[in-house]
Amino acid sequence: MTPAPVRPSPFAPQVRPDGSRRFSHDAVVARRTLLAGLVVAGASGGVLLTQLRSPHETASAADPAVHDPVALTAPEPAPGTAPATAPPPGPSTTDAASPWVVVNKQHPLNPLEYAPELAVVGGKEVAASIAGDLRALLDAARAEGVSLSITSGYRSFSRQRSVHDSSVARNGLESAESLSARPGYSEHQTGLAVDFGGSSAPGCLLENCFGQTPESAWLRARAGAFGFLLRYPEGATPVTGYEPEPWHWRWVGTDLLARMAERGVTTLEEFFGISGGTAYA
Ligand SMILES: [Zn+2]
Repeated sequence: MTPAPVRPSPFAPQVRPDGSRRFSHDAVVARRTLLAGLVVAGASGGVLLTQLRSPHETASAADPAVHDPVALTAPEPAPGTAPATAPPPGPSTTDAASPWVVVNKQHPLNPLEYAPELAVVGGKEVAASIAGDLRALLDAARAEGVSLSITSGYRSFSRQRSVHDSSVARNGLESAESLSARPGYSEHQTGLAVDFGGSSAPGCLLENCFGQTPESAWLRARAGAFGFLLRYPEGATPVTGYEPEPWHWRWVGTDLLARMAERGVTTLEEFFGISGGTAYA
């Protein structure tokens, strides 16, 4: 199948006047959660709060589920989107309940309001289907002296929709589209995506510097053994539609990971020949 040509999006994210980019939904959600926790706990954490707040964070960007901000340039055609061969046999990539489902800005969940069966791991809801592997991963990390935590797991369609609706009311449609993900387009809605954090560098929670922590190094070395893929790797933004997110891991299973390694590809879009990129379909 030949992918549809990428059209210029009428909702292209805006660059702030100072040239800064907005934060991903992951970062904003977690920062707000942590800040709320500190307030509830009555922590006199002025210094910590200062560290946690980004210099670029603004009220308008501080929405839960603010989505990846980052298409600062015109949308580019996604490389690797033309399948060289027929799709590999295996689970569906379009069924929302499939372990191999591909969700990106070109491919929303189907059905749009899909919700998985849930389980709680590390205090967060995730798809029940990944609970065993996720628990095993956390146990292995702990046994090896690495303090991993789960910052974010499943996020529902309705939560995303209410956030998006209120953002539209507040900011207008065009601006809201650049700030918050459309409901149905977040991989977190599958329950298969997990944002990890760690205790070694609290200021790096959902920030690029998480990639330099021992927790990140452990994940890169070991998460694959439990079926987790680094979903938004370096250099793949035109393919995945997202800036690198060293904290965001997606369960796909060890079988698919082995096949991807054989082919030498790092993204689901390239492996399956599925279109992606920074523009919404
Ligand atoms: Zn995430």
